[in-house]
Amino acid sequence: MKRGRHAKKQNIKISSFFIIIIILLILFFLVYYIFFKIESTKMVKIVKEYYRTENLNVDFGKNKVDKNLNFKYAYYINYPEISNKILDNLIKKKKNKIKSSFKKPSFINVINHNINYDIVNYELYSAPEKTFGLIFIKHKLNNKKKIISSSIYTSNYSMDLNEKLKDSYIFNSEYISVLNSYLIKYFKESKYDLKKNYDKIIKKIKPQYIITSKTLNIYYLEKDLLNKGTGIIKIEIPYDDISSVMNMDVHKKNNAKSEKIKKEYKKENKNMYLKKGTYLYKSDSKNSSVLKILKKGDSVKTTLKGQIFSKAIINNVEGYVINDYLSDDIIADFGYIDKKETVYAICDLDIKIKSSSNAVLASIKKGSSITRIGTSDNGFSEVIYDNKKGYIETNKLSISPVNDIPTNRKINPNRPMVALTFDDGPNPSSTGRILSTLSKYNAVATFFDLGKLVYAYPDVVKKEERLGCEVASHTYSHANLNNLSVQGILKEMEQSSNAFKSVLGHDVKLLRPPYGNANDLVKSTVPYPLIEWNIDTLDWKSRNKESILKEFRVTNNYDGKIILMHSIYAQTADAVEVIVPELINKGYQLVTISEMAYYKGVTLKKGQKYYSF
Ligand code: ZN
Repeated sequence: MKRGRHAKKQNIKISSFFIIIIILLILFFLVYYIFFKIESTKMVKIVKEYYRTENLNVDFGKNKVDKNLNFKYAYYINYPEISNKILDNLIKKKKNKIKSSFKKPSFINVINHNINYDIVNYELYSAPEKTFGLIFIKHKLNNKKKIISSSIYTSNYSMDLNEKLKDSYIFNSEYISVLNSYLIKYFKESKYDLKKNYDKIIKKIKPQYIITSKTLNIYYLEKDLLNKGTGIIKIEIPYDDISSVMNMDVHKKNNAKSEKIKKEYKKENKNMYLKKGTYLYKSDSKNSSVLKILKKGDSVKTTLKGQIFSKAIINNVEGYVINDYLSDDIIADFGYIDKKETVYAICDLDIKIKSSSNAVLASIKKGSSITRIGTSDNGFSEVIYDNKKGYIETNKLSISPVNDIPTNRKINPNRPMVALTFDDGPNPSSTGRILSTLSKYNAVATFFDLGKLVYAYPDVVKKEERLGCEVASHTYSHANLNNLSVQGILKEMEQSSNAFKSVLGHDVKLLRPPYGNANDLVKSTVPYPLIEWNIDTLDWKSRNKESILKEFRVTNNYDGKIILMHSIYAQTADAVEVIVPELINKGYQLVTISEMAYYKGVTLKKGQKYYSF
């Protein structure tokens, strides 16, 4: 009895101990939650306060639901001083206010969030209203803290700026009108039809000008200009084009800072190209004397790289070039429209060193491919050969592969010719018999083989080519390309191409789409000319020699025609034993598709259908 009571007492003690622990835990989490809620609401309020747009969509409370998201709110505030006492003080005050409001709650480290606010160190001036503002960049981070998306928000302070800054240089009309002039210049060059009411328009759209370390950014709302749309339009003007702004007193102090940065140089040894025209300066300052005018596309050798300038050598002259103008890629010369494409020589030709001279950089053969980086209306294309720039008459280049002279067999272009084509093979027995007949009469044909059978009967495919026939693709698996997505089409192309490469050592040049099917998507996707036919022997349907011959004899004129057969039927092989000598006796030359296109003067283009030549 005594013992039992004692035990009971102890039980009560233990259970009340647990209850207290649980209550404490609940309290802890409650406090934790409330504190978090208060802090996050405060954050939202602060952030919203500085946002001009309604787009802001922050809900700190919700984010904690998603455990996979890693949320961290980092911020930095680093305003440049802008040599204007009133404004600098204002910014400093604002900066401190934001900084203190963003005080990080101590527990915040343990909470995962996915949004990160940076207050960007940009100045923002709004022209007609004379306000100033902040810009926020909202970064979304993934759980590895990498930025996955960013958006820009701005906030304006009209405050009593009008009063305080009335006499301030920064908002004087000269500064604003210089900024406006960049926007007007943009409008003049743009497609907008603004009827020259630029001043009126600027008043209406209230553009915001932001000078970053690299550009002048101009923002305005789409609907303010076009009376429609919801987006913010951003215009970026390169730093180098805004020299008249940067030379104004208001920015001199910033420039002085950048002077300091640019003195640090690292060794570099690179061949670079000019993205657009600029100057080779004597020293690393835009105010220094100009040693040379540089054209877009000029190549320079850099020896030192700094923050703003690189030391560079061009034609033995050494000086400084602004980094933003340099590119690793070869760039087309001034006057040439930039391109980056593979083109083909339509005849044997010379690559000239200059379009204006006859000096030759190299000669290339008909059908050779070459990289074109620019075209000009002077009739020349700028090309890259052996890492050097050269020039070729544009009319001697084709963007589609050009048939190189496909054979050394003697073909008389003035005599009639016909192309026999065989699909769906190779097949070890029928294809073999067809090849025997062709070789007996010293004739050739074109075989549209299936990639999967190419792997199965590699020796037959090799024999087709060895006998002078043309081997071409009929896809990998006889897919109806019209039913496939772009990825599906490309997969068929790649698989069949791999089959030919592995068996023949090279890709083929032509495609016959199964069923002749090639819709617009197929045409724009396949990298081959599409070879159809205009005489169908219907061998696949009849499987009968006499019927095949009947269909074959539908015409008296075979010149330039493409005859469709299949290399997998014995009856077709039987018919071919009749067809080949019959055509030869009538005076026809039996040729491949590429030979016929070539001798009929047709340049085959990828994605285009051909029924005859
Ligand atoms: Zn077929």
